[in-house]
Amino acid sequence: MAKVEIPNVKLNNGRDMPALGYGTWMGVNSQFVFETTEIPKMEDCLSYAIDIGYRHVDTAHLYRVEPEIGAVINKKIKEGVCSREDLFVTTKVWQDHHRPEAVVESCRASLRRMNLDYVDQLLMHWPMSISDEGVDEKIDYVETWRGFEKVLEKGLAKSIGVSNFTVDQLKRLLANCKTPPATNQVEINLTLGQKELVDFCQSQKIVVVAYSPFGRMVPSRETPNSPEPKLNNPTMVAIAKKHGKTVTQVTLRYLYQRGIVTIPKTVTKSRVLENASIFDFTLDKEDVAAIAKFDIGSRTVRPIFWQDFTNYPFDKVPLEKNMEIPPAFLKWKNGKNLNID
Ligand code: NDP
Repeated sequence: MAKVEIPNVKLNNGRDMPALGYGTWMGVNSQFVFETTEIPKMEDCLSYAIDIGYRHVDTAHLYRVEPEIGAVINKKIKEGVCSREDLFVTTKVWQDHHRPEAVVESCRASLRRMNLDYVDQLLMHWPMSISDEGVDEKIDYVETWRGFEKVLEKGLAKSIGVSNFTVDQLKRLLANCKTPPATNQVEINLTLGQKELVDFCQSQKIVVVAYSPFGRMVPSRETPNSPEPKLNNPTMVAIAKKHGKTVTQVTLRYLYQRGIVTIPKTVTKSRVLENASIFDFTLDKEDVAAIAKFDIGSRTVRPIFWQDFTNYPFDKVPLEKNMEIPPAFLKWKNGKNLNID
């Protein structure tokens, strides 16, 4: 069987995190209904990923797949493919659990669903606090962070971090915390380089983790006006050819050379191997300069239905009418999404 060697990066608490992980967001369809059809493929791919050497898994309460992920992980440990200590499992606390005591509850519930004793990292999924009815609870993320520090003290998570935080939000958090976040997980890809945010995080020893690393490059994410590069972009194809790699591999390698951890999602086995086979070549200065030109500050993930909520981290776009929060992002206890709480 093929094997991949994924290097580690050091977190600010001395722990190691693999520089590439397996993403598990199955997405929503065009009606914003949670997508469940590909979960069995995801289970197969995660199992294969661990077999070939992946050790880092990224999930969240929101994704509704913690039970499946926990089952695969426990199976692999039982089979002797890896030990619990070899793995780096990240999960996230949803916006409706921002009271400090609710953070602890949320982490315990994730552990129960995954049948694990601890997670390697617990993230605050977003800086906003929104109830499961869609009410702006206006809980300060600094207060929420007290709950994360509690989780750490209790040993329920080995590291704690944030997601979708801006430089200003990080500065405020850093000035008001006992334990600094180990990571900030944000969207970064070729059209959204986030240089200022990355530079700030790296200056503070906060590891940057890139979600949606392919942006709108892949067909499933293309929109009518989506910016270059697409998979057939001549510049990207030429660089890929030069190194005997694919355009997606060049993309992940470029982010790695910027010191950024990536968590690409795929439910296609061949791509599980492809995405992690990026540690055996180096992009040269000319490649890097050509790829950097695609950064036009264009976002793929823009949840405009939250844009009027306190602490929304992105720039707002003008809307003709208010957008309701899709039900998939609100209450889902005992909903049709796998009946999980
Ligand atoms: P990705 O950039 O990982 O893109 C996923 C898409 O790319 C899928 O359609 C997949 O297709 C396709 N793909 C994957 N590999 C290849 C390849 N080698 N060649 C061609 N196509 C490929 O997007 P995500 O938004 O899923 O982000 C990754 C992860 O980041 C998520 O799964 C989640 O864990 C996390 N995330 C976190 C967020 C946060 O707010 N913190 C927000 C969004 C994501 P297929 O599966 O069919 O192979």
